Amino acid sequence: MGANYDAIVIGGGHNGLTCAAYLAKAGRKILVLERRHVLGGAAVTEEIYPGYHYSTCSYVVSLLRPKIIRDLDLPSHGLEIMPLEQSFQPLHDGRGLVRWSDWEKTRRELARLSPRDAEIYPEFGRTMVQMARFVKPILDMVPPDPGSLDPRGLSDLLRLGKRFQNLGPDLQAVKYRMLTMSAVDFLDGWFESDSLKAVMSVSGIIGTFLGIRSPGTAYVLLHHYMGEIDGAFRSWGLSKGGTGGISLAIASAARSYGAEIRTESPVQKVLLKNGSSEGVVLESGEEIRARVVVSGTDPRLTLLGFVGEENLDDETVSALKNFKMRGSSGKVNLALDRIPDFTCRPGVGPHLFGDIAIAPSIEYLERAYDQAKYGDFSERPYLNIVIPSLTDPTVAPPGKHVMSIFVQYAPYHIKEGPEYWPKKREAFGDAVIDTLSEYCPGIKEAILHRHVLTPWDLEQEYGLTEGNIFHGELSLDQLFFLRPSPKMARFRTPIENLWMCASGSHPGGGIMGAPGMLAARELLRTRTV
Ligand SMILES: Cc1cc2nc3c(=O)[nH]c(=O)nc-3n(C[C@H](O)[C@H](O)[C@H](O)COP(=O)(O)OP(=O)(O)OC[C@H]3O[C@@H](n4cnc5c(N)ncnc54)[C@H](O)[C@@H]3O)c2cc1C
Repeated sequence: MGANYDAIVIGGGHNGLTCAAYLAKAGRKILVLERRHVLGGAAVTEEIYPGYHYSTCSYVVSLLRPKIIRDLDLPSHGLEIMPLEQSFQPLHDGRGLVRWSDWEKTRRELARLSPRDAEIYPEFGRTMVQMARFVKPILDMVPPDPGSLDPRGLSDLLRLGKRFQNLGPDLQAVKYRMLTMSAVDFLDGWFESDSLKAVMSVSGIIGTFLGIRSPGTAYVLLHHYMGEIDGAFRSWGLSKGGTGGISLAIASAARSYGAEIRTESPVQKVLLKNGSSEGVVLESGEEIRARVVVSGTDPRLTLLGFVGEENLDDETVSALKNFKMRGSSGKVNLALDRIPDFTCRPGVGPHLFGDIAIAPSIEYLERAYDQAKYGDFSERPYLNIVIPSLTDPTVAPPGKHVMSIFVQYAPYHIKEGPEYWPKKREAFGDAVIDTLSEYCPGIKEAILHRHVLTPWDLEQEYGLTEGNIFHGELSLDQLFFLRPSPKMARFRTPIENLWMCASGSHPGGGIMGAPGMLAARELLRTRTV
């Protein structure tokens, strides 16, 4: 039977949609199949309670590639990103620290904790920007295969080596340190204030089941310094209407180029003939054929789930099983009647318009990790909080608010087993609110609705294997030509005509769109589709 489509994309997450949009723009006949009733995957907006629009999973954006915004003309499809500039950290001792986008204001704040750190902080920022500039082009390239003699790959590797040489000895040393050290050890080399190092180190552990003292986390810290919105380097933002606005803008672009998108269409398996993909079978039993199937779900679900272990070689199966997907985070979304005071800085001031980090000390974060190591959620976790309704009043009824709380650690593998999570869900939610109450005592009375997502829920509802928010940890051993394994690092799989285009591929998770764009580029370049 002939193919109905040039390509079927499994999953309407933002990467699947990006891949579909580029392929459709190149004139290919594309079908996107999404399991849920709503598009976006982990970049989604949902009205869980009437009038309250939650960015249920991801909540801030910084890495979305400017090229995608331009190529797909996303503003004309409704994309609007509002900057989110400051970072507020309440401390144990009743003090608070705000790091503003204005260096001078930050210097004055920091001087109260450590005059020495206040002086060094701008230099640290400049060094990180230089480091990120070195690493950032990697986000936009297909990873070369270091074992191959392909001239394209070799010239990419040579260019990388040349850029490393151009960094000069001082920055080369910084780079080596970042590749090998823990976030805390690396920051120890710069700062003396424990609370400053604590709040800065958390970027190294988000979405990974590692502690801030685990080697390799310094590099992940850099991954979080690489953001840019529309070309403005190192900035974070909120998508108007919630992060689902990004996915819907990409979907609208894809449709405008002719892509067909179906929701409530769960794929059950990939159709195989002689080791090659021919299309998909939906859970409804419907069979749809295409020249190529591109999976926008994670590598394990794609291959062990849709293809099946019995159709894969041992090496692939073991690579997939060893790919670290262990989820470590959860989310609590609140509908609020009002915004209560934070004890250290009462009032609804500009300090609340950025993110709020509950990460008061290194010891606090280490204790949070200790509990997770032994199979439980942290009773006093790291929280990253945003109140989007302050910047974007469209997401809540007039005078009301939504609060988004990202929580770590919430290990998927709890000691009772992951399927026990539903019984612990509310206790986990209570621990989050109790933690926040210590800094914001009126929070409990202000809550109208509470929506708690454990890693188990992230797997069941959003299709994230083991609840991993990035389709696989962003640790050094799982990045670049190792993501998800050396043999599958260039969006291909061992199954002919089955490709991958989501966060489990290079350059990884986060609302970036890069895997979707690069997979489409590679599919077109190789004339696979
Ligand atoms: C709680 C949480 C907080 C986060 N916070 C941030 C943040 O603030 N900023 C940031 O940049 N990143 C954040 N992330 C990470 C980011 O959201 C993800 O890395 C990114 O959205 C993943 O996009 P994707 O398109 O690769 O995959 P996904 O969004 O996972 O898309 C995969 C799609 O496949 C669908 N699917 C699954 N199974 C099937 C099937 N059988 N048939 C058809 N479709 C199927 C899913 O429903 C989903 O729509 C967060 C993630 C989570 C979970």
